[in-house]
Amino acid sequence: ALTVVWFRDDLRISDNPALAAAADSGDDVVACYILDEETEGIRPLGGASRWWLHHSLAALGASLDELGIPLVLRRGAAGEVLPGIVQEASAHAVAWNRRYGLAERTTDASLKTSFAEQGVEATSYQANLMYEPWEVTSGSGEAYKVFTPFWRACLASRTPRKPLPAPEALRGPVLGSDRLDAWGLLPTAPDWAQGLRATWTPGEAGAHARLDDFLEDAAHGYKDARDRPAVDGTSRLSPHLRFGEISPFEVWHAAQDRKDSSTAEDIRVFGSELGWREFSWQLLYFNPQLATVNYRPEFDAFAWESSTEAELDAWQRGRTGYPLIDAGMRQMWEIGWMHNRVRMATASFLIKNLMIDWRVGERWFWDCLVDADAASNAASWQWVAGSGADASPYFRIFNPVLQSKKFDPQGAYLVRFVPELADAENVHEPWKGQAPGYPEPVVDLKESRQRALSAYKALSEG
Ligand code: FAD
Repeated sequence: ALTVVWFRDDLRISDNPALAAAADSGDDVVACYILDEETEGIRPLGGASRWWLHHSLAALGASLDELGIPLVLRRGAAGEVLPGIVQEASAHAVAWNRRYGLAERTTDASLKTSFAEQGVEATSYQANLMYEPWEVTSGSGEAYKVFTPFWRACLASRTPRKPLPAPEALRGPVLGSDRLDAWGLLPTAPDWAQGLRATWTPGEAGAHARLDDFLEDAAHGYKDARDRPAVDGTSRLSPHLRFGEISPFEVWHAAQDRKDSSTAEDIRVFGSELGWREFSWQLLYFNPQLATVNYRPEFDAFAWESSTEAELDAWQRGRTGYPLIDAGMRQMWEIGWMHNRVRMATASFLIKNLMIDWRVGERWFWDCLVDADAASNAASWQWVAGSGADASPYFRIFNPVLQSKKFDPQGAYLVRFVPELADAENVHEPWKGQAPGYPEPVVDLKESRQRALSAYKALSEG
């Protein structure tokens, strides 16, 4: 007997319930990944994520080879490609780990139905969220609107299950496969991935190494260090979690195991950040259009600026004249990741100081981030915009100068990503002195803040 295991956002062999079930059944196993850029509603990956996916698939393929089977790569609409593989392999069963976007769920549900009609047993497993989005709901059976009660209810409901071990060996036939290189996931000319290569090790081993490093020292003091962009104070697990190279269960339990009296508070805060990931996915599950539709519909009438090409270009290139904004945007361009505090500041600047629709920023992040996540990115952009659930109120406008003075007082982060500022007389406010080669501010902070507040006032007064 043979089971097909369909890998999607779970590019790992340990704590992979679908793979574990297939291995435990004693069946032969065919492992496959389908690059689906055809099914309507499945959002095509951005450039940085494509780079990551390439390397992550290479790593997964190598791990499976070691276990004894290859990773079969196919391209096309999953609704057609997967049944083809099942037929070719004469499989009696298919297994996968659940995903939560609407188009993805619809595809999976219709595959399940058609497999059942053909007598093929299709089973799905919980793997990528510690709490299924429908599992912990508010009193009225709906999604939570506020994070704190959501996360409290999750933790009260049960402890996340323990991770499963990786299978020791697998066997199965060799099916035809695309060549990964032929998928064109990597940039050619220009090669913008140099900073990504220097920074990251995609794949399961890289993910575990990151986790160990983080728990070794950074976890100690995380609560405060997580706000300082110049410090390597966060786990940087986000792309690994996004592609499922490590499971939240693994991260959760490894962190709990390191808890002692001196780290308890740091580990609690770290755990609640994983909770924000779960919360974002619950929001997306109940609001599938979270990346495009205001969660709070009153924002539909907001008067965004319309002719903003020059300002948008300055923001995207990190040339706004505001050091923290420029450092963040260039960090993202260089390494495909941006520090959380700076994500909040750059998003606030786009939405409030430039008054550009949050969706424009959401799309740019989607293209540039190696951790671009359908739920966390959309929920966070709406959070900053004030249009989201449990959102920061629209009138709270990050001041990039105060933010960098407070969280990067020495300007180490600023200079690291904006080298022109190395010789600036005033690194936080370069316009107050000489800063050769660095642009003038693209907008006045005070005026643009006032403009945003007036627009918001007009909206709230209807
Ligand atoms: P750590 O501080 O080590 O946190 C551990 C893990 O918890 C992260 O890896 C992540 O999976 C999760 N997490 C932490 N903070 C958040 C949060 N606020 N919301 C949801 N999950 C969180 N995160 C993404 O994973 N993908 C995105 O596309 C994304 N887009 C964002 C866009 C904006 C405008 C903002 C303000 C935040 C965004 N975030 C996104 C959330 C957060 O910035 C990143 O998860 C975090 O910076 C990742 O770094 P880390 O792994 O070192 O985090």
